[in-house]
Amino acid sequence: MTFEALGLNPSIIKALTEAGYTTPTPVQEKAIPAAIGGQDLLVSSQTGSGKTAAFMLPSLHKLADLPQSAPAAGAGNRTPNQERQASRARGERPRFTPAQPKMLVLTPTRELALQVTTATDKYGSYMRRVRVVSILGGMPYPKQMQLLSKNPEILVATPGRLIDHMESGKIDFSQLQILVLDEADRMLDMGFIDDIEKIVAATPATRQTMLFSATLDGVVGNMAKRITNNPLTIQI
Ligand code: AMP
Repeated sequence: MTFEALGLNPSIIKALTEAGYTTPTPVQEKAIPAAIGGQDLLVSSQTGSGKTAAFMLPSLHKLADLPQSAPAAGAGNRTPNQERQASRARGERPRFTPAQPKMLVLTPTRELALQVTTATDKYGSYMRRVRVVSILGGMPYPKQMQLLSKNPEILVATPGRLIDHMESGKIDFSQLQILVLDEADRMLDMGFIDDIEKIVAATPATRQTMLFSATLDGVVGNMAKRITNNPLTIQI
């Protein structure tokens, strides 16, 4: 099996070749065609199985076909600071146009979020139209506001900090098309269930949902049932 045979965009194949990936892993072989086809996924697989590429490659493939989002910070090519000055000069109260991401990846930890972000940059290095930003607890708010003002297509986030930005109107999920829960069992173990429910409730019911977890039983299974629609279950 090859990545070409899975139907991925040539610019993604080029990045994979550069990264030295020649053959899809078993989870990638099953997940990628189903995800490109728009199906929800419930995947039980461990770190090291290639799960990041299993959800990110088909997502990048799909996002490549969408028109690019405009920067959120308003006028043209101004930096957020320039826009703020221009706005003040116009006598306006400071405002912030919320980011409208197309894809959201939730992870339990900052470390995993950063790994996913780095992998996404690598897989998407030949796709000019797709930008990824991580939103993490502990990172300074002004820096995150600046990143959000560019209106990135993809957000990778830990749930707590994401809720802060959502509740203060910095992120609008009405345009979200793809939601990924990475290491969902760990997120639940860490007590993120209410945050996750709140975030999911803010996204369109028409979204595609992919849930990755070491186990699909118990609490994870219950949540998976509530937030996915006729999912394909993949056990590796
Ligand atoms: P993950 O399970 O997503 O944490 O990936 C584990 C490691 O495998 C990462 O270092 C990836 O860069 C690498 N990897 C993922 N898919 C492939 C592949 N098809 N061929 C070679 N390496 C891969």
